[in-house]
Amino acid sequence: MSVVVFAESWNGTFKKGTFEILTYAHDVAKKMDAKCIALTIGNISDDIKVLAKYGADKVLSISNNFDACDNKGISSAIAQIADAEGAKILILSNTNTGKTIGPRIAVKMDASFISNSIEVPTESSPLVVKKKSFSGKAFEMAQSHTDKTVIALSPNAYSITENNNDSCEFTTVDCQVDDTNVTSIKVEKASGKISLAEAEIVISAGRGLKGPDNWGMIEELADLLNAGTACSKPVSDIGWRPHSEHVGQTGKAIAPNLYIAIGISGAIQHLAGVNSSKVMVAINTDPEAPFFKAADYGIVGDAFEVVPRLIEEIKQFKSSN
Ligand SMILES: Cc1cc2nc3c(=O)[nH]c(=O)nc-3n(C[C@H](O)[C@H](O)[C@H](O)COP(=O)(O)OP(=O)(O)OC[C@H]3O[C@@H](n4cnc5c(N)ncnc54)[C@H](O)[C@@H]3O)c2cc1C
Repeated sequence: MSVVVFAESWNGTFKKGTFEILTYAHDVAKKMDAKCIALTIGNISDDIKVLAKYGADKVLSISNNFDACDNKGISSAIAQIADAEGAKILILSNTNTGKTIGPRIAVKMDASFISNSIEVPTESSPLVVKKKSFSGKAFEMAQSHTDKTVIALSPNAYSITENNNDSCEFTTVDCQVDDTNVTSIKVEKASGKISLAEAEIVISAGRGLKGPDNWGMIEELADLLNAGTACSKPVSDIGWRPHSEHVGQTGKAIAPNLYIAIGISGAIQHLAGVNSSKVMVAINTDPEAPFFKAADYGIVGDAFEVVPRLIEEIKQFKSSN
């Protein structure tokens, strides 16, 4: 019996979420007295030994070429290996990839799929796991009615801890991959320097900034804090910022440690994509702006006065520390 993790990577580098799900899988496997197996696909330039540091008993690298492979192919490979390894639980990160391939893998494995989970299962037979519902406004205990379960763990919900395993085994496997339905013909990378999904800090701005020429101070603040930049939907709709920065119900869902919302009203559709942030700060001229009800800290003030002062303070702090 095993607990298998899909160790997701981007450009050959493991994502932070991979270490979260591996820590989670290690804890689940320990509870179930099962083996914790990490599965990698594609060309990983990171040292795969890092997976042993977070508790993998075994690392399987699928050797097939996935360059021209879509989600159908990737799902078939993961399901096949997970089944061959006797997986009772397969764990993914609740990223766009995880949410896309998770249901496909579940169908292939004849398993149930539980997304947005935030804790290790409280019961294992039948499996019961706590998950976020209604865009994080409620929590739910979900029970799996199948022998196998695919779990997608919410980003930032589980702390990474080291469970170094010196006896971890590393193996390469080959598998039968389903034909692709879709081939990617062109990839355009998002302009942001830091990927929103990975950013620990996100500086976001809305229509309160009045126009696209005023984003210089947002970028400067983001640079100083090594943060990613985001925006509200209308801002990307009118073309002030690229769509890749749009967060919310119809945009990206993010969960950074710190989210600073500048000139954003805090409509429910916006909050739906950011309310999993650990700490939220709102800067708004209107003391009645809905964002202040959701934020941990609020500054009632004009962004054109507050942000330059924040930048100055951070610069001074950095130069004297
Ligand atoms: C089906 C659906 C899906 C949607 N999905 C999303 C989504 O994914 N993401 C999203 O963001 N929205 C989404 N929306 C839109 C959402 O309802 C809001 O309209 C939107 O979030 C508002 O954007 P905003 O706060 O930037 O602009 P506004 O509502 O115009 O708010 C601007 C804010 O800036 C403040 N302000 C003005 N001047 C200043 C200043 N100088 N300094 C500081 N503050 C200032 C104002 O007080 C105000 O609170 C969706 C709507 C629908 C119907």
